[in-house]
Amino acid sequence: MTSPLQGEDRRFDSAPAHHSRRKQKMLGQNFLIDSNISKRIVDSAEVREGEKVLEIGPGRGALTELLSSKGNLIAIEKDKWLAVVLKQKFKENVEIIEGDILKWEVPPIDVIVANLPYSISSPILFRLFNYEWSRAVLMFQEEFANRLVAKPGSKIYGRLSVMANHFVSTKKLFKVSKTAFQPQPKIHSQVVKLIRREPDYILDDFITFEKVVRSIFTHRRKKIRNCIKITFPEIDVEKLKFMDLRAEILKPSEIAELSNSIFAIKSE
Ligand code: SAM
Repeated sequence: MTSPLQGEDRRFDSAPAHHSRRKQKMLGQNFLIDSNISKRIVDSAEVREGEKVLEIGPGRGALTELLSSKGNLIAIEKDKWLAVVLKQKFKENVEIIEGDILKWEVPPIDVIVANLPYSISSPILFRLFNYEWSRAVLMFQEEFANRLVAKPGSKIYGRLSVMANHFVSTKKLFKVSKTAFQPQPKIHSQVVKLIRREPDYILDDFITFEKVVRSIFTHRRKKIRNCIKITFPEIDVEKLKFMDLRAEILKPSEIAELSNSIFAIKSE
């Protein structure tokens, strides 16, 4: 059921006058107003008793309310005003941090649940990979989610898919219409589940891998030979595999193999 007053708590409506629409936009504040969707997101996280849960950007508490009865919840909110109201509302059972997820040192966590501010989904996701957690249920813009879960051979398989695959397995759960939010975003959203795991390859040097991935997907229409020649001019590309192919058909394990060969040649 859709209720424009989810987070019916009127305290959230009494933000100071300087709390402009512009600021809301900058912070990606599209609040969930469909309680069925909130419930589906929280249920998908399958939080078990005693687990530590992190919510990023609790906003007006649509997910926080449901999560607060499940595990030990910490929620970090950048908007000062919302953080003040959330602290009052959830003072009994949630640790509300007023802060920026892009700067905060994330403690060890079991589960992450978030309807992320869209403009910084990518930096948030890659920052989270530096910390310890085992699964996450995250809502992204649909287009970003599709790129995240894309497989080799797909037109949208790229740097995001390969780098995320290094840390997690990904599964699309369900689509969320823009009408589930207030204010409504321009495009639909998609909920994705991420499970932390080791990749199915051994990497000798992560920095070289990142550089190779960036190189071959920046010029994805070019043959890999030409990309590698530009990024690693010191390397004799004739010693390498996959040179006549294009990046979009290489599996992450094959990109890792290429990266390991380049690293070995550079280390000679
Ligand atoms: N979870 C709420 C919901 O589903 O209705 C709000 C989601 S809204 C898309 C994103 C939330 O993230 C907003 O409350 C916003 O203020 C907050 N936010 C934006 N940037 C942030 C950051 N760098 N660190 C922490 N929170 C942030």
